[in-house]
Amino acid sequence: MNQFVMLALSGALLLTGCDKPPVQPGAPAWTAEGKTMGTFYRVTVADAPPEALVGLKEQISQLLEQDNHELSTYQSDSSLSLFNQYTGTDPQRIPTGMADIISTALRIGVKTEGAMDITVGPLVNLWGFGPDKQPVKFPDQQHIDAARQLVGLRHLKLSEDIQGQWLQKDLPGLYVDLSTLGEGYATDHVASLLEKRGVNRYLVSVGGAVISRGLSAAGQPWRVAIQRPTDKEAAAQAIVDLQGHGISTSGSYRNYYELEGKRLSHIIDPATGRPIEHKLVSATVIATTAMEADGWDTGLMVLGTERAKALALREGLAVYLISKTADGFTTWMSPQFKAFLVSQSDASAS
Ligand code: FAD
Repeated sequence: MNQFVMLALSGALLLTGCDKPPVQPGAPAWTAEGKTMGTFYRVTVADAPPEALVGLKEQISQLLEQDNHELSTYQSDSSLSLFNQYTGTDPQRIPTGMADIISTALRIGVKTEGAMDITVGPLVNLWGFGPDKQPVKFPDQQHIDAARQLVGLRHLKLSEDIQGQWLQKDLPGLYVDLSTLGEGYATDHVASLLEKRGVNRYLVSVGGAVISRGLSAAGQPWRVAIQRPTDKEAAAQAIVDLQGHGISTSGSYRNYYELEGKRLSHIIDPATGRPIEHKLVSATVIATTAMEADGWDTGLMVLGTERAKALALREGLAVYLISKTADGFTTWMSPQFKAFLVSQSDASAS
């Protein structure tokens, strides 16, 4: 799980992986928080007309419940699970929101040359990071190869007609996992609900995805801290001012388990069928939406430091990478990211 904790650290929201909801600085007019999608959400409104807040908490809960019921692989009767359980190859009608997220996922999937691939579900489950239990021993190559046969964006087709949106698979065993973009999608969805109610100064986070608009209650830009990649402490590596954008961090240092003495990350390289093992430990992306940021960060993690840098430069993405070195960490940011940076720790900056 990748969640948030707010530290009283330069007054910034810290992107981290501790199992606590964030606490936010200043004296917000209104906050709501709770559990959703196996993680936490938090909504902070800095200022709003009182009528805009009436029944807001209930509406946010309902919206997140609805997103969960569409996108979860952990709920056997969600729209996504029904598609995954279907073993035919006819197009299946899917909700509009699910079509939006799949459309974004397919686009980013192609741009990352399949590093981010939402059909990776059979491998995620094989390695014990989905709804299935963790394996007690390493999956053997035969099982990895069999799961890899079911993976590939070319097996998935999204279409639209006057009746609605349709999703089609050409392999009966194809299994779609939207965990990597779901939190970003839900973050944007809550933000759009706030906008519709006339709220335009807010910070929303669902798990590892955040979006903000306007100024905080203290009249300052909303600041978000990128966590130093360690599971031992909660400390900021860099602080950014989102300027109304979405941000998401994907890291290999929090969601992992140890098997036969080896640390296994929840991010799977579809090319090898195995958890990633390289030196890139955290990738943060700032984009116009939280969902967009949430899709790219996982793809960059799979690619590793050098290929992630090349992709960020090629696509003009705002990216901050943290890589392991022999004696600590080194960081890299794309030119687009610099526009958002408020400060970063000198200790590990390159
Ligand atoms: P990210 O880096 O954003 O995504 C990593 C995740 O994406 C992996 O865990 C895996 O699922 C998938 N993935 C791995 N490799 C790739 C790849 N190469 N390409 C694409 N995807 C990849 N968790 C629970 O424990 N219980 C729940 O009930 C639960 N419900 C959920 C409901 C929904 C709708 C969603 C979206 C998620 C749910 N989760 C649940 C999952 C969890 O909360 C996180 O979303 C998940 O752990 C990944 O989020 P992240 O930000 O940590 O990692």
